[in-house]
Amino acid sequence: MKEILFASTNKGKYAEILEVAAAFANFKIVKPDELGLPTPEPQVEETGSTYEANSLLKAQAYHLWAGIPVIADDTGLEVTHLNGRPGVFSARYAGEPQNSQKNIEKLLGELGSETNRAARFMCVLTLVGLKSDPIVALGSFKGHIALAPSGGGGFGYDSVFIPKGESESLGQLKSRGVPLKTHRILAAQELFRLISKYA
Ligand code: IMP
Repeated sequence: MKEILFASTNKGKYAEILEVAAAFANFKIVKPDELGLPTPEPQVEETGSTYEANSLLKAQAYHLWAGIPVIADDTGLEVTHLNGRPGVFSARYAGEPQNSQKNIEKLLGELGSETNRAARFMCVLTLVGLKSDPIVALGSFKGHIALAPSGGGGFGYDSVFIPKGESESLGQLKSRGVPLKTHRILAAQELFRLISKYA
């Protein structure tokens, strides 16, 4: 069984990757704190202008640190009325230090009572260290932005994102354990499909 490090301490992201990996018995996904490495995990500045560039930066830094194959994630929320913003700047939308509540307040403030609230999450997963070239997979998840937050489940923008065909926020749906093909689940399914031949 091949060990792959998932380069994130975010429990929600990790749970989604594990859920998908469970169907691929040849790979074991581990977290940074499970490796017992003597040096602290890398702090990677997301200086790229695309999800691909940022997830590659993270994957390379963690691969250098851990010496085993690494999957890194970069995600953004793209709102149609805001011409795709906050997009690649979703984490720092309301400035530094990153704060999800402030990001949500800014988003709801910018949208105001606008009726076109269409949005999508984009997720790029990059795997380095398995083959000589990085392996990249993408997932997107359509929905719209609620008028106000609801639901304590999930993280980030989950409390204001209502998936297409649903009437509750992603935060509410996650807290009820509703199975969903989110951006990250779709990207992970594609990534594991691509690498299953290398196990
Ligand atoms: P990053 O990829 O972790 O840098 O995420 C960018 C921003 O989007 C951060 O503010 C995250 O909290 C938020 N975010 C990332 N993934 C998700 C998700 O699956 N649901 C809701 N918000 C997310």
